[in-house]
This record gives sequence, structure tokens and C-alpha cells, in this order.
Amino acid sequence: MTPARRQALSRRGFCLCCMSASAVAATGAWLTPRQTFAEAQGIVELIKAEAARTPIAMYRLRGNVVALEGSGGNIAVLTGRDGKVLVDAGIAVSRPQLATALAAIGPEPVTQLINTHWHFDHANGNEWLHELGPEILAHENTRKHLSTMVRVEDWDYDFPPLSAGALPTDVFADERVLKRNGTTLSLKHYGPAHTDSDISVRFVEADILHTGDTYWNGSYPFIDYSTGGSIDGSIRAADANLAATTDTAIIVPGHGPPVSNRSGLQEFRDMLVGIRAKVDSLKKQGLSLDAVVAARPTAAYDAKWGQFVIDPALFTRLVYEGV
Ligand SMILES: [Zn+2]
Repeated sequence: MTPARRQALSRRGFCLCCMSASAVAATGAWLTPRQTFAEAQGIVELIKAEAARTPIAMYRLRGNVVALEGSGGNIAVLTGRDGKVLVDAGIAVSRPQLATALAAIGPEPVTQLINTHWHFDHANGNEWLHELGPEILAHENTRKHLSTMVRVEDWDYDFPPLSAGALPTDVFADERVLKRNGTTLSLKHYGPAHTDSDISVRFVEADILHTGDTYWNGSYPFIDYSTGGSIDGSIRAADANLAATTDTAIIVPGHGPPVSNRSGLQEFRDMLVGIRAKVDSLKKQGLSLDAVVAARPTAAYDAKWGQFVIDPALFTRLVYEGV
């Protein structure tokens, strides 16, 4: 990994989704599987080291909901007499900072944990949070993927299962509604999107939507084809997020600055659709993957969206894979 890329990672926080991009950035070319594996091993350690030392930033939203940034994906916390409800768990090595942040929110115990999808930077923190005794709720595919070794081809990497106690204790297929702390939580499966396990979590009265990784605020998203994600599913999820919100909604993305809104989401959706159309057109002309990457179909978007860990070449490749 180049020093510049490492610095970008440090500045913006890590996610597991970054490893392939970093492997590309390291050499400017695709690595052999063995090289990628070695790079991924190093980056996993780097991600952990970074999460271990990154402080947690807290953003007070409304309706007793706060967002926490700094341990992998963005975490939302609803507090009240029924205890704390967490949406996502971050990475376990952040335990000291996250425990401090949770204590700063209030003395209530963690009684409910929800995972937006199976990825490490959203569910690895289950390993310590489960010790606090919460119900752990997720989509059925999240429990399925967290229960076994999962291979993500784009990283040439095998992710081990969580320990038994850290797995979701309750799962659903399509929708679930919870009442906690006087708040209605409406959970909904997107269908295949960023993975096949993504759910949205809406705090109804407060008009807050946590999108998981179906929305990356200000950067190209990773798309996990190994567990059912696709560019078209990602676009459908972005459309669903737009349909589910109005201009008054606070939108918490999976990655990027954790307080966003519908206009940011609209811009993200339009970027996905615009790049998909360009890549699709080039691929239909018969261009190879390398030729499509060389044609820079993302060029008009790179200044705004290409500065984080999914760089233009990797994002082009991810879109090409699905058109
Ligand atoms: Zn993810």
C-alpha cells in the first residue's frame, strides 16, 4: 500500500471493503491471488490496528438517537428505559473506545443489537457486545454468512465464522417491526444489493434511516458479488432509500460522514446510474475489462467519489462484473 493510500485510510477510517482497492493501489495493477492474499492479510492487521487506536466520534441526531463513527461502519444508538439499541457493532478491537462512547450516552445496558449485513466492519463487534446480553437481530443471510467460512473472491480471502455466542439470536426474511424506548423501529430487507443480507433500519418517529452499506456518503461503494451483491441491486437499494425518505429525513450511511440527507443520497444514486450506463455501453461494444478501465468511464465522478478506498479502477471493475 502506498503511503498516500495508507494516509487516506487513516484519515477516513477503515473498512474491510477496502482491501482489494488497496491491493490495486499498491502496484497500479491487479495482483496475483497469492500477492492479493498476502496484501489482504497485512491490511486486515492494519484495519484492526487503525480501529484499535481511532477515537469514536459522536453525533447527536434526534429522538434519543446518536451516530458513532470510527469503528468500521457507522453505528446508530437509540437510548431509553428499554436499554440501548445498537444498529451495527463495528470491529471488536474498538471495544475500549466504543464502551466509553456508549457510557457517555447514558447508563442504560445494551439490550438490542441489529446487524445491517454480515461484513466484518459491521458485525465483528458482536464478539464482545454479545457478552452484554443483547438480543441480536439480523437478516437470515447475515446469520448464514456469519456461521460459516465465507470466501470473498475479490479479496481472495476467507473470512472465518463468528464464535457461536456472537451470532444473531433472531433473524427475519423480509420485514420486522420493533417497539423500543417509545420508538418504532422498522427493519426491511433490500433484496440482493451490496450483499444478499442488507437491511435498512428506520427510526420512524425521529425520521432517521440507517441504510447500512447501500449508501456510502461521498465515495464509491464496495459491491460484494461473492455473497449476492451487484450493481443493479445496489441501484435498486438506492431507489428504495429515496422512495422511503423525504427531505426532512436524517440518513445514516454505512460509510462516510454519518449525518446525511436525501440530496446526498440522490447524488449517490445518480452516480451509480451514470457510471453503470457508461460501463454497460463500453462492454456492449465488446471492450475487455482492461480496455473499459483504461477508457475511464468514471472520470466525471472521480474528483468527488474516487478519493476514498474504492478507487476508480476497482469501482469500474465492480460495475463491469454486473452489466
Ligand atoms: Zn459492507
